[in-house]
Amino acid sequence: MNAIYNFCAGPAMLPQPVMQKAQQELIDWNGLGVSVMEISHRSKEFIALTQQAEKTLRELMHIPQNYHVLFMHGGGRGQFTNVVTNFLGDNGRALYLTSGQWSSSAVKEAKRIAGEAQIDEINIVETIDGLHQVCLPDLNQINKDYRYVHYCANETVDGIEIFESLNSPWPVVADLSSTIMSHEIDVSKFALIYAGAQKNIGPSGLSIVIVRDDMLSLPSLVQSSVMDYNITKDNDSMFNTPPTFAWYLAAEVFEWLKSVGGVSAMEKINQQKAQLLYDCIDQLPFYKNGVALENRSRMNVTFQLADSALDSEFLADAEKAGLVALKGHRIVGGMRASIYNAMPIEGVQKLVMFMQDFAKKHSK
Ligand code: PLP
Repeated sequence: MNAIYNFCAGPAMLPQPVMQKAQQELIDWNGLGVSVMEISHRSKEFIALTQQAEKTLRELMHIPQNYHVLFMHGGGRGQFTNVVTNFLGDNGRALYLTSGQWSSSAVKEAKRIAGEAQIDEINIVETIDGLHQVCLPDLNQINKDYRYVHYCANETVDGIEIFESLNSPWPVVADLSSTIMSHEIDVSKFALIYAGAQKNIGPSGLSIVIVRDDMLSLPSLVQSSVMDYNITKDNDSMFNTPPTFAWYLAAEVFEWLKSVGGVSAMEKINQQKAQLLYDCIDQLPFYKNGVALENRSRMNVTFQLADSALDSEFLADAEKAGLVALKGHRIVGGMRASIYNAMPIEGVQKLVMFMQDFAKKHSK
């Protein structure tokens, strides 16, 4: 069978070596004669797995000692809520920067939980020469007291990525769901990082939270115990039964990433993959991308066909060629190629060849 390259934005493809290992271990994990899904999360074998997962993640992201790593339920949206309930007790206020669909969804949820009065919002995307560009405001000029400022470093739907770090007088909370471990970051610049797992980490449902210790003393709202950062930390992310299979696969993905050279090696490959694709889009008038160069996402490459009447044919032909899930998000339309860590460069090369052939075939 020819290779299928899956460009889905999430749940996304996982590294092939991880999937092959998981398949072998499905009925006999760790010599126990049963799957990891069938053992207690309190068993010494599973606890060893979780400790190793955290250790490797800490190494990969160079997480400082004063940060806790939590493995939680609820994916990315779960954290939209948790950030508010954990930090905005006693009428605390927060500032939200919006740059696309996901950061806007985070604001909506924050307002729903805390109320409009506690949430301020600034849109940071401007259209300059017809291209969407992130223009970060000078936060130091804002004379208000916020518990945190929230932003989304990579807008999965819009294909907009913010590479620079925020210069903020308040703790920075970032949604890194679709960019975590795709390039090096300095964790110490953040007060809290969260990511739903289903892009660069593992299966959906799980989310990872990396939180600086001092944040855990902020007043919280009344909330569910399983979503409480302090309770989660005090119970080693096992206050209730965790999503054990997702955790196991995440642990395997971390080991795989380490084995291929870690985040810095992956960053180089990701740059090459994105460059290949954007070069193709820029060189052919048949395709266009509406994001300014400095904010073009390296993980979610959005593009439009100059003639949208050809969209369905493009998608059908791509699928026949083994290039699947290229349809853009229903809100923005067009195409989107999600090229997370697990997408090999061969997949992007094949997509580029397909795009060149398709453009040739349909250019008058
Ligand atoms: N944040 C970002 C940047 C996302 O891309 C997504 C989902 O794709 C979410 C949040 C929501 O994640 P979930 O569906 O796990 O709640």
